[in-house]
Amino acid sequence: MKIIFISQPIIGRGEIEEVKRVLKSNILARGPKIKELEKKFANYCNRKYAIAVCNGTAALHTGLYGLNIKQGDEVITTPFTFVSTANAIIMQGAKVVFADIDNRDFNLSPQSVARMITKKTKAIIPVDLYGQIYNHKAIQEIARKYNLKILEDACQAIGAEQNDKRAGSFGDVAAFSFYATKNITCGEGGILVTDNYDISERCRRFINHGQSLNNYEYSNFGYNYRMSEIHAAIAIEQLKKAQKFNKKRIDNANKLIKGLWGIKGLILPTVKYGNKHVFHQFTIRITNEFKTSRDKFIKFLRKNRIGCGIYYPTPLHLNPYFIRLGYKEGNFPVAEKLSQQVLSLPVHPTLTNKDIGYIIKIIKSF
Ligand SMILES: *Cc1c(COP(=O)(O)O)cnc(C)c1O
Repeated sequence: MKIIFISQPIIGRGEIEEVKRVLKSNILARGPKIKELEKKFANYCNRKYAIAVCNGTAALHTGLYGLNIKQGDEVITTPFTFVSTANAIIMQGAKVVFADIDNRDFNLSPQSVARMITKKTKAIIPVDLYGQIYNHKAIQEIARKYNLKILEDACQAIGAEQNDKRAGSFGDVAAFSFYATKNITCGEGGILVTDNYDISERCRRFINHGQSLNNYEYSNFGYNYRMSEIHAAIAIEQLKKAQKFNKKRIDNANKLIKGLWGIKGLILPTVKYGNKHVFHQFTIRITNEFKTSRDKFIKFLRKNRIGCGIYYPTPLHLNPYFIRLGYKEGNFPVAEKLSQQVLSLPVHPTLTNKDIGYIIKIIKSF
């Protein structure tokens, strides 16, 4: 019997043919594919500029540089995210300040953000966790009031919408990832979008050693964060399928919600009003009212060949590295509680109706 994995990349003939074409073209870096991807991705997000980079972490780091975040500045983000969000702040020499989350969308709580603001706060990085866009309206109000920049971490949310605007539109800059498990992938890759020309040019230089248009003229410090033509070719093919992939994820999620409705102690995902959730993860909560512990439930699922995952088992502030920065248990009670409860089930586009029926049947038989 097959195993139902928690995630699965979908590579078609188009990706393979385009990679061959690039390999035969002799242009493997800084060529037409990068330009094409940037143009198409900017269009997709309805933004003016896009800059392709080598991964999502590089996109976040570059975004902070683009927003002029420097040593000594404070940047507020969520402890309930992949470590990359916080590491990007540290890479730019700034201070990570966490705020708590909302238990309905797992994203930054505006009230908690407001409490963490000091004279040194310069920016906020909200994360569109699991594929649902954060509470933009409330956080933007805070940003306006205190003159803060917003960098949207949309790594899990390509194609998600809020009030008919796509992910990537909810900040001064937004960062995406094309890592192997994301809704579209080129193996490793990332991209930034913005409407601000000056920010886009700062970012462009930063990913290319600080070089201006003239090669070997260094106007700023920078890194080599460029994407290759090979990766860009794959990402272009995947982008064509983003809507189709997301539709299948949403269909799968709706079927799971319908099938798993009403199980005591099992809380299903919430889609907030005005949001199009693209279900990078289908994340349920296993509460105290559930029959057994989350651990026992996971063992049962695995025994029945259903893959699952915990994103994330420990909120960032309770990891040794961040504890050393002065955080402790009790700082962010919602993030701490949810990390004990969350469990993600398979929702990816390659699941068949039979797979979904099987997942529902097995969980109900528990
Ligand atoms: C995947 C991810 C990243 C980092 O992307 P990489 O391409 O792996 O560097 C950052 N933030 C979030 C929320 C992610 O899910």
